[in-house]
Amino acid sequence: MLYDAIIVGGALSGSRTGELLARKGKNVLLIEEHSNIGIPCKCTGLVSWRTPEMVDLPKELIVNKLDKGKFYSPDGTSFELKSKKTAYVLDRTGLDRFLFNEAVKSGVDTITERFESFKRNNDHLEVKTNKEIYQTKVLIGADGANSLVAQNAGLEMPKDIFVGLQTTASGNFEQFAELWFGKNTAPNFFAWVVPENEELARIGIATPTSPKPYYERFLETRLQHNGLKPDVAGIIRSGIMKDTVADNVLLVGDAACQVKPFSGGGITYGLVAAQVCADAVGQAFEENRFDYQFFKRNYDLEWKKILVPGIKKGMMMRKMLYLFPDPQINLMFKMVKLFGRKALNSLDFDLLSG
Ligand SMILES: Cc1cc2nc3c(=O)[nH]c(=O)nc-3n(C[C@H](O)[C@H](O)[C@H](O)COP(=O)(O)OP(=O)(O)OC[C@H]3O[C@@H](n4cnc5c(N)ncnc54)[C@H](O)[C@@H]3O)c2cc1C
Repeated sequence: MLYDAIIVGGALSGSRTGELLARKGKNVLLIEEHSNIGIPCKCTGLVSWRTPEMVDLPKELIVNKLDKGKFYSPDGTSFELKSKKTAYVLDRTGLDRFLFNEAVKSGVDTITERFESFKRNNDHLEVKTNKEIYQTKVLIGADGANSLVAQNAGLEMPKDIFVGLQTTASGNFEQFAELWFGKNTAPNFFAWVVPENEELARIGIATPTSPKPYYERFLETRLQHNGLKPDVAGIIRSGIMKDTVADNVLLVGDAACQVKPFSGGGITYGLVAAQVCADAVGQAFEENRFDYQFFKRNYDLEWKKILVPGIKKGMMMRKMLYLFPDPQINLMFKMVKLFGRKALNSLDFDLLSG
């Protein structure tokens, strides 16, 4: 059987793209290596108002709503920002499962197999998994930050990588997200506390090198509690890929580095790009064009038009914050506390407007 599209990766970007393509009448196969969708969890699940606007989320997936963030400098100076729009803490595994089920309901075929490689066969691709070989017109890599589809297609991914660890801990938590900065806390990134409610919070950290000692130290200083094993671990890859398409191939989500470089957030960006990807593939069938130039113009350049301004802003913010030694960051925080909070309050969580 020749599929219109094979998607590798049954997490949010792959499932959403599959659902949208199936709704356009395409026959789609989704290949996911894990039988338990959403596990292992690699994410905190904090999203802006855009996610529930794009996806009709069942109420039970919304664990908490927050409209404030508190930022801590290395010397403990802090300031609070109030967002104009609510941020949502989601049941992250539940989100992947919900989107996967929506894809299945729309008619997407799914299999639990591991993608290994693909090769060209005239006008289509042969996709090899650990069990079978499948035929498809289009291959979509939604296989995350270490995309094997990208590697197989010769699409180079940025080398800027962060490793994140997170646990769920009990304590007394105020209802705002905490972000802790400093070279001794989390070099080149930050540590976070995202409350699920007054008594439970998701507490984590990301760093470019091994995060374990920083994770342990942060739990000890923030909660006077160590020995809590991480229940979330994952990598964040940040940067702008020169190409996210090749002949018959497209990448979406973390596989395409559609991630906010400052926070590592990729849920909203992945969902935005899934729509652009499905539209481009739909159009490819209308015009019978599956070549690099077509997908470059109709997908790669299109998603970049929407997301790259935000990615660039995020890169600049990161450079500004992490280039400086801790004393300067302390000073910067003091200045913001005194003069700059109003301007930052209006900052778009996804850096997509303004
Ligand atoms: C610690 C941490 C915290 C984060 N917190 C947030 C947050 O609060 N908010 C936010 O917006 N983002 C956050 N992110 C980022 C977010 O998790 C990702 O952007 C998002 O999960 C990307 O979804 P995806 O579907 O593109 O890729 P992934 O979620 O990585 O899914 C890829 C899928 O492909 C499958 N797969 C991989 N290789 C193969 C293969 N060879 N064959 C078959 N299947 C394969 C995997 O099993 C997986 O299911 C965080 C990331 C980390 C690491």
